[in-house]
Amino acid sequence: VIMIIGSVSIGILIFISSYLAKKSLEPVRLSYERQKEFIADASHELRTPLTIMRTNLDLLSMKENETIIENKKWFDNIYSETETMAKLVHNLLTLAQVDNNQVNTRSEIVDLSVLTQKTCDKLVLMASEKDISFKSIIADNVMVKGDVNRLEQLIVILIDNAIKYTTTGGEILVSLMTTPEKAYLSVKDNGVGISNEDREKIFERFYRVDKVRSREQGGVGLGLNIAKWIIADHKGTIEIKSKLGKGSEFIVGLNKKNR
Ligand code: ADP
Repeated sequence: VIMIIGSVSIGILIFISSYLAKKSLEPVRLSYERQKEFIADASHELRTPLTIMRTNLDLLSMKENETIIENKKWFDNIYSETETMAKLVHNLLTLAQVDNNQVNTRSEIVDLSVLTQKTCDKLVLMASEKDISFKSIIADNVMVKGDVNRLEQLIVILIDNAIKYTTTGGEILVSLMTTPEKAYLSVKDNGVGISNEDREKIFERFYRVDKVRSREQGGVGLGLNIAKWIIADHKGTIEIKSKLGKGSEFIVGLNKKNR
């Protein structure tokens, strides 16, 4: 299993490196140093789940007389690391494509009210597993122009983070409001909060305020960088209101497409 996953990760790294190498011949957006840093960080992040999987497999190989049920904990660890790795690889590929200007974003009329409601419905179970109260107030008929899949990815990133960085028993409120010109999507939590110094840094690739907490929650440090790109691609804005220890609110502003 480790051999297969190892070769797949090496393949992915070669693929990403070749993307970035090709890119260096084109008008450069990432400096050479930043590319090297990105590859080094990506390799490190891929190595961590592999190491954990190997340790768990080593443990399992010493328990060959025990049943699978008796060893469920180690299997669960391996499963959760493969999930982290899958998410990491997905995000790395998205960013490699973004850097290489190879993302085809669609431009169509999107009903943000329906999309927000649908996305909330998908994530409500995840919140309830952490005993988090999850509420939404969504204005009707809010239309924007953009790519429905990317906008869904954006909403998922913000709600997923709100769940990850809110402790058991917390509260999350998703709201969609409008002015005549703008749509405002807000994801508010009463979780760990973000300090003023970290507010800009959290949009950088692989930056995590608390690496251990993020990893425990399955975080890979790329979500907000992708969110920032999606918002820029839709000519939108993002504002963060947060108090350390009290909670955070991420507010995305998008141009409305009035019918
Ligand atoms: P990750 O996969 O680590 O969640 P992100 O890029 O989505 O990566 O977020 C970067 C960092 O920003 C997180 O590791 C966390 O420290 C901080 N962060 C993001 N959302 C929140 C939030 N709602 N509350 C507190 N901290 C947050």
